[in-house]
Amino acid sequence: MHTSSTMILLFSGAKGTLKRNDAFMSVEFMRRAIALGIENVRSGGGGPFAAVVVHEGRVVAEGVNRVTTTNDPTAHAEVVAIREACRNLETFQLSGCDLYTTCEPCPMCLGAIYWARPARVFYACVASDAAAVGFDDAFIYEELKRGHDERQLPMQQLLREESLAIFALWKEQEKKTHY
Ligand SMILES: [Zn+2]
Repeated sequence: MHTSSTMILLFSGAKGTLKRNDAFMSVEFMRRAIALGIENVRSGGGGPFAAVVVHEGRVVAEGVNRVTTTNDPTAHAEVVAIREACRNLETFQLSGCDLYTTCEPCPMCLGAIYWARPARVFYACVASDAAAVGFDDAFIYEELKRGHDERQLPMQQLLREESLAIFALWKEQEKKTHY
């Protein structure tokens, strides 16, 4: 039987079920992410978020929030860590990797994580913890539920027929890497 570890309970029954020994490693990797997050805030470097990517039991990339320091609204810790991991592993997919993040991913990061295809995601704080200090992403989830014409952000479709030429070209292209 599993121990009472929350980490194990979280993943029991999931595709990448944790083994008992993994739980101890997981805690250490999450502590590393938390330490990075604390350092990022103390140094005035950026938002209170950090992430690490682990492959075969070792950290292959670390990321901290750099939105304000690099003027990049996409520089969330998870995205920064995914980019770094892919650069280091020389791949565009993080198969077999685990991603540890100090807070439940926002919709953008969750999308990036799905595209990167790691095996598992571990998170520490939950979305409401981030909301309590001013980082509320609930409105994005609400927006996603609405139709295009009901969203706060206006979206207008244009030139579909002309743009379909790109897909037609892709379909014919023989030199392409599927992902
Ligand atoms: Zn994010």
